[in-house]
Amino acid sequence: MIRNIWAVGRNYRDHAKEMRAEIPTEPMFFLKAGSCAFFSDQISIPPWATDVHHEIEIALQLGEDLQPQKIGLALDLTERKLQSIAKNKGLPWTLAKSFIGACPLSSFVEFKSEYLNQNLNFNLKINGELNQTGSSHDMIFSISDLVAYVHRHFPLCPSDLILTGTPQGVGPINKGQILQAEIVGILKHQWTVN
Ligand code: ZN
Repeated sequence: MIRNIWAVGRNYRDHAKEMRAEIPTEPMFFLKAGSCAFFSDQISIPPWATDVHHEIEIALQLGEDLQPQKIGLALDLTERKLQSIAKNKGLPWTLAKSFIGACPLSSFVEFKSEYLNQNLNFNLKINGELNQTGSSHDMIFSISDLVAYVHRHFPLCPSDLILTGTPQGVGPINKGQILQAEIVGILKHQWTVN
């Protein structure tokens, strides 16, 4: 069971810019409910949602020792219209970020310590068209920074996920689309939107 999803916002300058947000000086974490996470090749958009956006992110899963044990991709699905309203009113984002099925996951593979020093390139294609590309070297706070930060501040549990932020290019998803994502040379995954 995944108890917690520790997700960082605005960890890529180009995405912070597209959201018209300030560049943070320390990691800005928010929570997604752990029960939003599911390993699947299908994505369901809730019937009440009108503007669900994809945010492809490198995800780390913690082991028993609370260190990154596995690496994969997560879609930090976000109901952008509700999130904007909440932001403008200074209200919490819970419904925008933690609705049923809000965190589809790829399959995960073993996390190797050398990944900390490598440039991990990842991308998301929708119906064959490249929508998002990112590189771990472009993160404002590195994977090591994020791991150190969550260890210092949060009650971590084995199997928890850390979502490391999304690069530029977020946008809506719609029924019938095929989403293909990869961390180049490490893993590939495909989702169909229902
Ligand atoms: Zn995100």
